[in-house]
Amino acid sequence: MSNDLAPHLDLAACVDHLRDLIRIPSVNPPEGGPDLAAGRDPRGAETAAARYCAGVLGDAGIAAEVIEITPGRGSCFARLRAGGPATEPPLILLSHLDVVPVEAGAWSRDPFGAEMIDGVVWGRGAVDMKDMVAMELGIMLALRKLGADLRRDVIFAAVADEEAGGTHGAQALVGAHPDLFADASGRFAAAALNEVGGYSVTLGANRYYTIQVAEKGIAWTRLRVSGTPGHGSMPHRDNAALKLAAAIGALDADQAARPARVHPVVAGFLEAIGLDEVARTAAIDPAAAAAALERLVPDPVLRRSIDAMLRDTVTPTVLRAGSKVNVLAGTGEAELDIRTLPGTDQAALLAHLAGVTGEAATVETVVTLPAVEWPADAEIVSHMRTALKAADPDGVPVPMMITPGTDAKALATLGIPCYGFAPLRLEPDFPFLSLFHGHDERVPVSALAFGLPVLADVVARYAVR
Ligand SMILES: [Zn+2]
Repeated sequence: MSNDLAPHLDLAACVDHLRDLIRIPSVNPPEGGPDLAAGRDPRGAETAAARYCAGVLGDAGIAAEVIEITPGRGSCFARLRAGGPATEPPLILLSHLDVVPVEAGAWSRDPFGAEMIDGVVWGRGAVDMKDMVAMELGIMLALRKLGADLRRDVIFAAVADEEAGGTHGAQALVGAHPDLFADASGRFAAAALNEVGGYSVTLGANRYYTIQVAEKGIAWTRLRVSGTPGHGSMPHRDNAALKLAAAIGALDADQAARPARVHPVVAGFLEAIGLDEVARTAAIDPAAAAAALERLVPDPVLRRSIDAMLRDTVTPTVLRAGSKVNVLAGTGEAELDIRTLPGTDQAALLAHLAGVTGEAATVETVVTLPAVEWPADAEIVSHMRTALKAADPDGVPVPMMITPGTDAKALATLGIPCYGFAPLRLEPDFPFLSLFHGHDERVPVSALAFGLPVLADVVARYAVR
């Protein structure tokens, strides 16, 4: 089958939409004021971005609505309806409109300038994930231009607040407006296409394309200790600062000793990309696995990413204790970013951690979201493989698991499988993974020129009669 949508795709418009969206400083959290967004005011910017999408869709004759769960935190929804008999459940083109804050001084370019330099678009959101918002807009416009006869509704959903867990976005929307994710007969979507997967990874002479079919769970946790305040000149051991340090040290030692567990998706991924030695040795000889990773994967971020696919991780990210230099700390607390593999019992892990930190500390969960995992042999995944092979016969599509969480967790509560597939063909030395939430975020137009037709091909195969 040829890609019927291809003649209707407009790469230049897609790039314009991406640049326009980058110029809208939809930084999350938006309450921090102008300095958070490098001289721009992020308050209400998610709604501005949602209205921008609704405007682009509306200009093409596609009715779109902007929904604010919270004022200023807008999401955009639009739908192209299936026609004819025997329709199937919808496809969702999912994205998020918010971005993480910037340290503007560390950037080589204006993070919200959307400059185009030597064929590369620079700015916060270029890869996470306004590039995909622009590509999904482009698909909607192309479907409309084609006048496509759809066998399932295609739903455009660009939501707020992914970067802070979706309380003002996907998590709230699935609860308050589940109909947005279903067709007229109330059937929830059969699949959603979302961020992260889809990009190419070059190892040695081989180019691989990731298809994200699983993501780790989240258990954000707070650890508290208490001590006895007193004058700093007369120390005692019941000092919350010391107790906090001891608890963190115990957690770190426990983390280092935690054995690897190779999930089947990760085993398949490692084998497919020639790292079967890592998969084979991870659970029995962690040192050998680490040495193999070091030898075979030059990109340090990819190495860290693979290492985190092999185990539950417990990472202290915020520590607080005491209030003044000459006062012994009466209280201390730490925030732990815990990420769990599919199959890990989060409650059991937390009970174990409470044992590790001992009676001096209490451990309390703040946010828990389970890991998600979807079939790698689903119809839509076969279309991804076909579309990738057609566009890059030398590339090898490989299902994989990601370590961060996405809005896939919200859609999972409705039973909607969510695949990470934002296709981009990248040059071998392009530091893609380090650009997520990093300085100098940018995306080559050539990567979009590859990705837009691939994404369109998948949508055409899955949704057009
Ligand atoms: Zn993202």
